[in-house]
Amino acid sequence: MFKWDEGNKTEASRRNFLKGLGVLPLTTLVGEGNRMAWPTAPGMANVAQANPAQVSANGKKFVAIQIGARSFVDEGVDKCLDTLQEKGRVNVLMSTVFTYGRGLAGRQVPGRPLPDHGVQEYDQIHGGSYTRVHPEFYGDSVIKDIRAPELGDFDILADVIPKAKARGMQTYCLFEEAYNPRLIPNFEKIAEVDVYGRTGHSTCLNNPYARTFLVSMVKDWLKSNDVDGLMWESERQGPLNDTLGMNFGGAGQRSIHCFCTYCMEKGRERGIDAEKARQGYMALDRWVGHTLNDPRPSDGTFVTWWRLLLEYPEILAWEKFWFRSQEEVYGLIYSTVKVINPGAQVGWHIMHYVTLSPFYRAEQDYSRLAQKADFLKPCPYNNCAGPRFARYIRNVQATLFRDLSPEQVLELHYRILGHAGEPSLEQLPTSGMSANYVAAETKRAIAAVQNSIPIYPGIDIDIPTAMNEKQTQHSDVKTAVLAALNSGAPGVVLSRKYAEMKLTNLAAAGEALREFGS
Ligand SMILES: [Zn+2]
Repeated sequence: MFKWDEGNKTEASRRNFLKGLGVLPLTTLVGEGNRMAWPTAPGMANVAQANPAQVSANGKKFVAIQIGARSFVDEGVDKCLDTLQEKGRVNVLMSTVFTYGRGLAGRQVPGRPLPDHGVQEYDQIHGGSYTRVHPEFYGDSVIKDIRAPELGDFDILADVIPKAKARGMQTYCLFEEAYNPRLIPNFEKIAEVDVYGRTGHSTCLNNPYARTFLVSMVKDWLKSNDVDGLMWESERQGPLNDTLGMNFGGAGQRSIHCFCTYCMEKGRERGIDAEKARQGYMALDRWVGHTLNDPRPSDGTFVTWWRLLLEYPEILAWEKFWFRSQEEVYGLIYSTVKVINPGAQVGWHIMHYVTLSPFYRAEQDYSRLAQKADFLKPCPYNNCAGPRFARYIRNVQATLFRDLSPEQVLELHYRILGHAGEPSLEQLPTSGMSANYVAAETKRAIAAVQNSIPIYPGIDIDIPTAMNEKQTQHSDVKTAVLAALNSGAPGVVLSRKYAEMKLTNLAAAGEALREFGS
């Protein structure tokens, strides 16, 4: 199932990429100063000729669902699999193997209505690995003690895969960058460091120990279990976007990473004046502080920001250095899997901002990402997009676009991003965005990768919002799934986790698939 045409050019370019990697022992890819080169871009003409990726081999759509171990423990593995197959026509489990966050693990977010299945009680999350940790894979890692304790010995891979396979269901390992430093011994050794020298809550993408830790986990999962693939969620942005508040969260301390010794040295090796970059980000931080708190400068907010970039072009250079480092880690995970099991499918969840922020969209270049991925999962989560986009617009209006009104900033974004016709700022939080947005983002992704790899859009099913904000309806899910499929997607990823979804809404995905003929 789900094998793509082995003869296509993308497969050929991927094999060439791996062949290139083959001359390097894997250990050299994880050490300090790792310089894994971006693979040579395949001839675009070649990629354009190959377009079988959006058509599945057996006519069946790839219907994945993100699911945490808690659901299997609460509802029983067999009953859970019954429900997924019957309601959602699910044939791929994206099983959360590692997280310290609630987005992919545990039950419903406390305070939000519990769905119509599972244990009707909120839970506590410790987090960590929801599959057994085999110590032999962590010999070189400074991070070893990661087994999540809250579900006893339950193993989301070993205890589920045989039963899933018996039903013809595949299993992909799903993991994300959600850490709890307080619960991870030695975390400070892999942590990012901000512009002021403070240790952060996530890892440094250039820290060799952080890379070794990721490689250890991936090797463990792939070698200890018969998994069909893997998807990583690197849900964070570089220091420029973070400093400017380009997010849909509340106002908080600005996170300006990473300026650790590994990054500073590597940046210098790349020809960037790392110290000037650090000075530039401190100046940018001050600029944001003034913009948020002081009267508008006589030259205007945007002009003073641009002037800062002219003074410190290293700000942009450091932002590029950040996301190129993220790309290196994608490549590292990809090559680690392929050396163990070339047939395992490796893909990346590209977080929601890719559909909402022109700045993040520019960085997350699908055509580049496709060179080291077997699939991509963009996230046109149209229901929660309403309140999220409204908050994002207000956040960036308060900094970069203070010369404009929030309504004008939204219109600017609609124009730049191609979301014309979506709701006004006043309506957005309660109306959400339309299925047209799902279709547009699906088509854009397929075009960007030139059909070289499958695009599986994430479908928003009850992703939590505030009670007075948009709530997912049955028709929302059905139209979103149909929009994705009618736009050429060979599958979908039902998101963000089963434990939050109402069965009636999960069933809407199944109805759409049936209607589509899959
Ligand atoms: Zn760093």
